[in-house]
Order: sequence, then C-alpha cells, then structure tokens
Amino acid sequence: MKTGYLIDMDGVIYRENRLIPGATEFVAALLGTGTPFLFLTNNSAPTAEDLAVRLRHLGVTGLSARHFYTSAMNTADFLSETHPNCTVFVIGEGGLLTALHERKIANDGIRPDYVVVGEGTATTEKLAKAHECIERGARLLATNPDNWCPVSEEKTRPGAGATTAFLEASSGRRAYFLGKPNGFMFHCARRRLAGSGMAAPEQVVMIGDTMETDIRGAIESGLLAYLVLTGSTQMENVCDHVYQPTRILQSVADLTQEIVTGLVSSQVDSPLGAPRSSGGRSGHRHQTDVFALYKPRPRPAMTK
Ligand SMILES: [Mg+2]
Repeated sequence: MKTGYLIDMDGVIYRENRLIPGATEFVAALLGTGTPFLFLTNNSAPTAEDLAVRLRHLGVTGLSARHFYTSAMNTADFLSETHPNCTVFVIGEGGLLTALHERKIANDGIRPDYVVVGEGTATTEKLAKAHECIERGARLLATNPDNWCPVSEEKTRPGAGATTAFLEASSGRRAYFLGKPNGFMFHCARRRLAGSGMAAPEQVVMIGDTMETDIRGAIESGLLAYLVLTGSTQMENVCDHVYQPTRILQSVADLTQEIVTGLVSSQVDSPLGAPRSSGGRSGHRHQTDVFALYKPRPRPAMTK
C-alpha cells in the first residue's frame, strides 16, 4: 500500500537548533524512495523557502519549498477559496505576509474584511489597530491556535493563540483558527500530496510530537497518527487525551527502515521496550498498553 507522510517539524525533525538523531537518514529515505511527503508546521512566521534553508543549515539536504506547507499558507488558501478579493489587517511575520500576497489578498489598515493574527511579536500599537478594525466590522482569524511555542528545552514564547486571546477579550468577538488541528489544514495538505506529481498515496500518515494539534487533527481528519517522543509529549501524558495515536515511536529514525523496505517494522511500537502484540491486518494498531501508564499531572494548555 502506497503511503504518504505529513510531518511536523519542531520536536520531530529538530529541537531548537539541534537535529533529532536519525532525521537526516529519515528524510533521505523519503526522497530516495520517491515517497510522497510534506512538512506540515503551525509556525506561520517563516516562508516555505526559509524552512528549506533552515533544514539545509541543519544538514538535511535535497528539500525545496514544495516540501513545506505552513499554517500561513493554509490561512491564505482558506481566504482565497472562501472569500476571493477580501482584504486583511495582519499581525504577523514574513511567512504570513508572503502567503497572503501570493494569493493576491490585499492589506487594508482602515476597513479590512479580516484581522489575521500569526506568529510573531505584536506591539501595543498593532493590537490597538487590530482592535479598532474588529470594532469596525473585521472578522478575527488566526493562523494557528498555539498559545505558546517552544524556544528551547526550558523556554517557551507566547504563540499566535495568546495574541488572538488578547483581541478576543478586548473586542468580545470569537476568532476562527486555521492550522493544525483544523481539518482544512489536513484537507489542503492531502490535496498537495495527491498533486505532487507522484501517484496519490492510498493512505496518509501524520507524524507529530503534539497531541493537541498533530494527533488530534490527524485522527479527526481520518488519517493515521504517529506520535514521536522527541518533542513536547512524554509517554506518561499520552493517556491524558481522549484521542490516541495509531502508533507511538521513539523518533522518526524508527521509520527509516520501514520506508526503505516497504515492510512494517517489528522494531517500532514499543518505546518502553514492552512486549509487542501482533499487528492487525494493516500492521497499524493502537497503543492500548499506554493506559497502564496514566499519571495525570498539571501542565499548561498548548491550545485554546
Ligand atoms: Mg511539533
């Protein structure tokens, strides 16, 4: 069965400025076998070209802009498909401004149809201006719901969700969030995979490190959802969630051999070294044994 992959970046391919061990070989296997794949990120600040350069500097070669799909591109796709020729007031960085420009969506600081909030620094002046636009009738839209984003192992920064919460509070209006876990993100990503010039995959796997965005969105969109433990989720927190990943892997390195051979690996699905049960017909099975590890503990919410 031909499989296509949607792959989160932060916590899956790299963490801060460090490559996850085995990520280079994993990407090389995808490229070498002609496997359809797309990096899928909620970070709306960089452009697809920026992300290709960033990975090249980390040692991952052979990638170009067509391998990336960001929440900024998803927001621009959404607006151009649902409201052609609309106007926007933007709080965001280059990736969002470029995506909107490519879809011919004009900036309007006086009476825009939408206030669009993305990742990046929001000054008090910008927030006040956005608030005024909403008061004059603009609808509130955000590229992604993440309230905070990891900066390093210990540090985080406020995300687009937090900026949007400010405007929701000041205006009394509710925002609409694109990006993961919104199904439109996965719908557009699948459409890109199918149009990548290769045969459309018969099944699509989302690989991510965050339960609230990667795994939830994939499950709700009918995709297979592989959780890796190299990012924001620890094994003991998996069972805090109603939705569960199809598989749990230590890292993307666990999949490299499987992609090369086309055979479901027997070396994965047991990150704690627990005894493995036999696979189902497709080789994919839920990690029912993780419920035995359930240890609820307080933690900040990733999304609204
Ligand atoms: Mg991530």
